[in-house]
Amino acid sequence: MIVTGVIFPVREAPIDIIALKSDMQARANSLRHQGKTIALVPTMGYLHEGHLSLMRLARDMADILVVSLFVNPTQFGPGEDLAAYPRNFDHDRELCMGEGVDILFHPEAGNIYEPGFQTFISLEKLPVYLCGASRPVHFRGVATIVTKLFNIVKPHVAVFGQKDYQQLMVIRRMVQDMDMDIRIVGGPIVREADGLAMSSRNAYLNSSQRPAALSLSRSLQQAQALLESGQTDVAALIASASHLILSFPETAIDYVAICDPDTLENIKAVTLPALMALAVRVGKTRLIDNTMLVPPQSATS
Ligand code: AMP
Repeated sequence: MIVTGVIFPVREAPIDIIALKSDMQARANSLRHQGKTIALVPTMGYLHEGHLSLMRLARDMADILVVSLFVNPTQFGPGEDLAAYPRNFDHDRELCMGEGVDILFHPEAGNIYEPGFQTFISLEKLPVYLCGASRPVHFRGVATIVTKLFNIVKPHVAVFGQKDYQQLMVIRRMVQDMDMDIRIVGGPIVREADGLAMSSRNAYLNSSQRPAALSLSRSLQQAQALLESGQTDVAALIASASHLILSFPETAIDYVAICDPDTLENIKAVTLPALMALAVRVGKTRLIDNTMLVPPQSATS
């Protein structure tokens, strides 16, 4: 019988699940010795399209694609959702296989942070702003785990989402300051059809909280529209956004900020592209979102 037509892509090897950092390091050393390049996408799991978009970006950037799946305890403060953070390893593994991931690095916290651990990476300025103001240990935990993942996975390139804009800035700065020989790539925010930025934490929302959650992306869109109609005053733009968000009784604002996209320092007027970022609690769920506000004259110039 002659079969013609569709050729299905076949994975040459099943995904490798590596649990121990010593095994991951040994594999990374061997791959590098063979002249292979490595791309890393760090995640905390409970994967969604946002994560998968980063894997697709990374897949084309190196020979070997490693995804790490680790809910990092040091980036959660006391009273935050470390224990409740959603997990579904089997589903995550299936999704990774579908994206052609070569290695899923899935360590236990006790293997990453061994007894006696006491070394942290912290930045002086970037963590002061935005999320860092209400999550004082968060970026120290992020910078520390990302450094450890870089030392364990030994990637040539690592891909992070612009959804966590401040995190991306912290990592870029750290890599530059510490002379880490790793290319950092940022991937755009992936949204649901209604505009809600995808997040593992969206799983916490019930259906009645969903309209309130949409106020984040709506307020960003509204700010861009106001800017285009001539409103450049940051206080006025923030007031309009806050008004929209607080029109939903389930919401509480952590921050609404418009700032310099490089330093994250507050600005008074939007005359150049500026970062608008916000963090809002919807019920008990803390959501973040951001966009680059672009004044009309700088979009055309
Ligand atoms: P997390 O598992 O939440 O730590 O996220 C892992 C990576 O996925 C980070 O680099 C995030 O910025 C990125 N990410 C999370 N949500 C999105 C999204 N909606 N669009 C693009 N990237 C995302």
